Amino acid sequence: MRYCDLHTHSTASDGTTPPAELPALARRAGLSAVALTDHDTTAGLVQCAHACEEQGIQFVPGIEVSADPGPAPPPPPPETAEDDVAHDAEQRRGTLHILGLFIRHDDSQIAQVEHRMRDARDSRNPAIVDKLNELGVDISYDDVLDLARRQGAAIVGRPHIAQVMLDRGHVATLREAFERYIGQNGSAYVRRDRLPARDAISAIHHAGGLAIMAHPIQTGLSDPGQLEQLVVQLKDLGLNGIETRHSDHSPHLAEQYELIASQLNMLTSGGSDFHGDRKDVVLGGQRVPLEVYERLHNAWQKRDT
Ligand code: AMP
Ligand code: ZN
Ligand code: FE
Ligand code: FE
Repeated sequence: MRYCDLHTHSTASDGTTPPAELPALARRAGLSAVALTDHDTTAGLVQCAHACEEQGIQFVPGIEVSADPGPAPPPPPPETAEDDVAHDAEQRRGTLHILGLFIRHDDSQIAQVEHRMRDARDSRNPAIVDKLNELGVDISYDDVLDLARRQGAAIVGRPHIAQVMLDRGHVATLREAFERYIGQNGSAYVRRDRLPARDAISAIHHAGGLAIMAHPIQTGLSDPGQLEQLVVQLKDLGLNGIETRHSDHSPHLAEQYELIASQLNMLTSGGSDFHGDRKDVVLGGQRVPLEVYERLHNAWQKRDT
């Protein structure tokens, strides 16, 4: 059996493996194809492509964009008014990440997306550090920027902030940094401006890529009907497929997502969301069959976007 991993991060965003070193790890993990899908940046793609060639494995140039799904679809008729409120709260809390696969790394619209997201991060990250300081966690934003720069990152994310908190002894683990402070339920959480899903999908298409909903579980829509509604809404905007296998998905959930994709005649993808040492996730750990890559590759070659 041959395998692929179509969702990974490098030091160009918030992973700990340099993009030039990822392909050797991928080959050692028994993979025949790997995608690099750094958050909001294509900075690692050229290096990773060269290294994949050297290792003799297929490369999928990608990106992962944090998006806003747009207005929530009307909820199914609630049984009580409370259900309605719960649904809206869930919608607001959830995360929508869109993967672009097979993108051109030097596309003008993707460059604009990278620019917008960098601006959003530039205003959010210092606000997180300010909140941390108010809570008595004494770190400076310069330290965060220094760390990101030393790692060669093109974007600065919460994992970099968490790393500085850990290095300075404010928390015992990265997990604690997220749970107590900078995760969605933490006391120093600041929401970031996200790109409208429509813009994310159209930039991915402009770059010649396929747009795939990443880890549907993170939308917070546990009801398959509600998730399907969101997928339909995004399909109308051009979404091409769903990431069914992911480290956050149980086999049961993966099956549920496969069913939604087949009912809507959409593509499926799968990957680990490898972040190097920053996450307890193994490269290639999802054992995604190479056919998943091949189906995507065929669809991409035949695409009319
Ligand atoms: P940002 O892009 O700055 O919002 O940071 C998001 C990244 O932080 C994700 O891609 C993960 O790598 C990491 N992350 C988010 N939540 C957690 C968590 N609860 N524990 C550990 N890492 C997390
Ligand atoms: Zn990440
Ligand atoms: Fe993600
Ligand atoms: Fe990811």
